[in-house]
Amino acid sequence: MDLRAFIRDVPDFPKPGVLFKDIMPLLGDPAAFGFAVAELAGHYPAGGIDVIAAAEARGFLFAAPMALALKKPLVPLRKPGKLPGETHSFKYDLEYGSAELHVHADAIRPGARVLVVDDVLATGGTMAAACKLIELAGGSVVGCAFLIELAFLNGRAPLVGYDIFSLLTY
Ligand code: 5GP
Repeated sequence: MDLRAFIRDVPDFPKPGVLFKDIMPLLGDPAAFGFAVAELAGHYPAGGIDVIAAAEARGFLFAAPMALALKKPLVPLRKPGKLPGETHSFKYDLEYGSAELHVHADAIRPGARVLVVDDVLATGGTMAAACKLIELAGGSVVGCAFLIELAFLNGRAPLVGYDIFSLLTY
């Protein structure tokens, strides 16, 4: 199935000069969405993964069905103030300002092998922060999976050393 037919280019979003890849047409087509999730999950032998994690918010859309397909626990990485329990956190810089991700302190067992999922790999900042947080929480990142990689933004640079898989590359 040609998944590219379900990714919409939106010029000048969220700001002038940015060509945004909109995944909503894919989410709106159960056959295409199901195919994408099966292809992503199928890349990973279930025996090599203990936990599937994803950063808020669009990563959840792919991590949740992948966790069900691979029968693994799902661990959401969330923005500050969202998780009710004790958390580990990691603060990182954005183009303007900074952001912070949290994970429940009891969500990752020491040495747990974690697959981290997101919809889009752009500059790599979000995934690098997610991986740092997993490691801070005691886990070991065994892979980073994306629906889309925007290769021209060189998002692999901050992720050197991690195993990266993307379904679609632009
Ligand atoms: P990065 O931290 O790699 O620069 O940006 C990745 C994050 O921004 C992802 O969590 C993703 O949801 C969002 N993102 C960046 N560019 C795009 C895009 O073109 N389309 C979509 N859907 N999300 C994007």
